[in-house]
Amino acid sequence: TAAAGPVDVLIVGGGIGGLSAAYALAREGLRVRVLERAREFGEVGAGLQIAPNCTRILHDYGLLDEAENLGVLPKTMVMRDALDGSELTRLDLVDLEREYGFPYMVIHRSDLHGIFLRACRRAGVDLITDARVVGYENTPSGAEVLLEDGRTDEARIVIAADGLRSVARRLLTDDQPVSSPYVAYRAAVPIEQVGRNIDLSEVSVHIGPHCHFVHYGLRGGRMLNQVAVFRSPRALAGEKNWGTPDELDNAFATTCPDVQAGIPLMWRDRWWRMFDRDPIMTWVHGNITLLGDAAHPPLQYMAQGAIMAIEDGWVLARHVAAHRAENGSIDWQAAFAAYEAVRPEHCRRVLTTTRAWGELWHLDGTARLQRNALLRARDTYDYSFTDWIYGPTALTPEEEPPMFTPIPLDSGRSAAGAGPVQD
Ligand code: FAD
Repeated sequence: TAAAGPVDVLIVGGGIGGLSAAYALAREGLRVRVLERAREFGEVGAGLQIAPNCTRILHDYGLLDEAENLGVLPKTMVMRDALDGSELTRLDLVDLEREYGFPYMVIHRSDLHGIFLRACRRAGVDLITDARVVGYENTPSGAEVLLEDGRTDEARIVIAADGLRSVARRLLTDDQPVSSPYVAYRAAVPIEQVGRNIDLSEVSVHIGPHCHFVHYGLRGGRMLNQVAVFRSPRALAGEKNWGTPDELDNAFATTCPDVQAGIPLMWRDRWWRMFDRDPIMTWVHGNITLLGDAAHPPLQYMAQGAIMAIEDGWVLARHVAAHRAENGSIDWQAAFAAYEAVRPEHCRRVLTTTRAWGELWHLDGTARLQRNALLRARDTYDYSFTDWIYGPTALTPEEEPPMFTPIPLDSGRSAAGAGPVQD
């Protein structure tokens, strides 16, 4: 076997999804082991936005103070037009915290990952690296995984948190990742290297024709995080070598000075082509379940990917607690059924909405001007677009709030196109 000693739960993948689920289940008194293919546990990338639906869970885990110390609590999120720089709409994040009871935070990915890693260590989770899982099988007493080097390991249940290119997902569907023609460049740089004045009390989002640009502070304002996303002409033309730095420069050549000033800081040695997958409504296969990006990798426009992964583990752990008998035995089938009754539908909504949200951000021509007019008409303190995402994570389908309430405009027109859209 991969490691000494039997465990109740095997988790494949030690990303933010896998580690947070491991911690959630270890808190319920379960013996948990994480199998990670990499040499070390870690996260590549830059910043993450963590909305109140996730800081609420961090608070429940007793990890919010640590996260706040490592992150930044911005005061506003401002959306501007990337061509003329004018303001379109904003969220008052101080009021948002009052509204939802928990803050909107930005944090370095490796800091959030490190918080869960340390929490897992404290909780006694068995953390194994250099363990690439290549096969899964249900057994009479649970489930077994096969590792690349021929070892096997087994437990009462297996959770596959193995990301966008999940091996376990093949048990449920033969779908493939869906490539969008968009690519993301990132940068997280010490604030002294930025060379321009930046208001770090803001999360700033510029949206424009086939591109957008995001920046915010990290690590108490000692770093600036930037994300530049654009549609690659070479991807559209079906060429293989797409998303390269020359395309980055071209894509932002006509943007406003504030955006252009950020482009030279982008990392140019790596970039992230944007993939998602179509929603699937079945995540459970016997004693094996999917979690996180393995189940629902989104395009990143709503900044909910890591959050959904963290919610998954929290919801599953709550149902485990609810289906534990007095003698400590767990009705796993019932816990999995309750998890699967609520999470796939929520994540389906986020996946489809984030695709539409991206389309809206990237409009050109007259459609861009119409969008701008609708966004400007939005009342800053209208939370009807965010209630279904930032409110408490639902444990049952009945708790899941309705998805979207159109803003009634004075003219009587509906602004249904001005935010996350109905599906
Ligand atoms: P992953 O992070 O992919 O982790 C999977 C883990 O499994 C990895 O450690 C991998 O090495 C391991 N693994 C894979 N296969 C195997 C195997 N066969 N055997 C063993 N181990 C294996 N989300 C937000 O919430 N907020 C944001 O602001 C945000 N911004 C984003 C910006 C960009 C540009 C991008 C690309 C994404 C963004 N996301 C954001 C999404 C977020 O990054 C992901 O949804 C999240 O990291 C998924 O976590 P995960 O643990 O499910 O998967």
